[in-house]
Amino acid sequence: MKKTKHIIGRVLAGSIAEEMEIEPGDVLVSINDKIIEDVFDYHYLINEEYLELLVEKSNGEEWELEIEKEFEEDLGIEFENGLMDEYRSCRNKCIFCFIDQMPKNMRETLYFKDDDSRLSFLQGNYVTLTNMSDHDIERIITYKLAPINISFHTMNPALRCQMLNNRFAGEALKKVDRLYEAGIEMNGQIVLCKDINDKKELEYTIGELTKYIPHLKSVSVVPVGMTQYRDDLFSLKPFTKEDAIEVLDCIHRWQKKLFAEFGTHFIHAGDEWYILAGEEMPAEETYDGYLQLENGVGMTRLLLNEVEEECQKLIGNNRKQELSIATGVLAYPYIKSLSEKVCQKYPGIQAYVYEIKNNFFGERITVAGLLTGNDIISQLKGKDLGQRLLLSDNVLRSGEDVFLDDVTVSEMEIALQTKVSIVKSSGRAFVEALIQKEE
Ligand code: SF4
Repeated sequence: MKKTKHIIGRVLAGSIAEEMEIEPGDVLVSINDKIIEDVFDYHYLINEEYLELLVEKSNGEEWELEIEKEFEEDLGIEFENGLMDEYRSCRNKCIFCFIDQMPKNMRETLYFKDDDSRLSFLQGNYVTLTNMSDHDIERIITYKLAPINISFHTMNPALRCQMLNNRFAGEALKKVDRLYEAGIEMNGQIVLCKDINDKKELEYTIGELTKYIPHLKSVSVVPVGMTQYRDDLFSLKPFTKEDAIEVLDCIHRWQKKLFAEFGTHFIHAGDEWYILAGEEMPAEETYDGYLQLENGVGMTRLLLNEVEEECQKLIGNNRKQELSIATGVLAYPYIKSLSEKVCQKYPGIQAYVYEIKNNFFGERITVAGLLTGNDIISQLKGKDLGQRLLLSDNVLRSGEDVFLDDVTVSEMEIALQTKVSIVKSSGRAFVEALIQKEE
């Protein structure tokens, strides 16, 4: 086993670690004589009432520390590397990989192809299981980690090898059996590619996946995202309205059958399918508690319902203000009608809603989360924006004040000469941002 140095980055005030005079820069060598592989080992190993820690101080001294504590009490240590191990990259070359379709010269971290099961538990990432050893699977079972999010794409082993460009991708599906037998909770996703894993293949895949109910909680089906940078890549065809109707028919048929049999809808269509098919978003109950919001499954229905609920509470008044909202092509009709709904109670509020086309990745990319700062600026320049421009927080890189193309919020404010308000993706936040009185 490869040994990673676990350098302590922070010691929390008032913690056991502080009391033991552990300091940032110290290295945790072992716990109860056991070498720590990663963050999961660490959390598992510290769940004891008596611990022996071996710590290497920055001056080279080795300290053996004996600790008595409550069973689940934390030590108050944060490590420089949150994963306590190197991030694992993927061993595939999927025919639909979004990273392969990104333009050059973007931030280097955006090109990192992770396929790390630890990130599945920590951040909800989806993994293909192709770089996981039996040891990794057994650790998940021992530590009862859950849920694990799996990119299935197809249950046809030969087709999976082709789609992932990895000869082990079909065999990797056997690991799902082991997780199922151990009762590990899972979620799944299928990226659908036209004439490849759709139609009969999709029927077969859904049928096979239902065998893992109830431990497999949900599976989403999303259309492949295609940017304008697909030269030299596998030739993929875009889905049409008719295709979307067919995909939805298939999913609804399965939902009906599975709900009658197991009380779960299990298989869910991404919002994009409904928009492409020109169908209404389904009712909230069909999402089984919105298990796959991060995958764009049910986001629109949730927003519609939340805004509706907030609107019922609004009394309204005549306050006067002008503001603007910008969003992607996909969400535009919904955001426009929702803002009109709110403004009915506030006739003095003038809200301009703008649809931003994705020139950076190409017009086939319609989600707001992949808009760039430069596209927003160039398409809003010279338009009526009012005192504030509202943007949903999913246009920013997670946890940062920066758009995908490194444009900052303040650079956008200067370029557009208006304040930019970043709004959380929820109905309440949307309504509050809309009716907020200017200082
Ligand atoms: S698993 Fe496939 S889609 Fe994901 S990063 Fe790797 S190549 Fe790309």
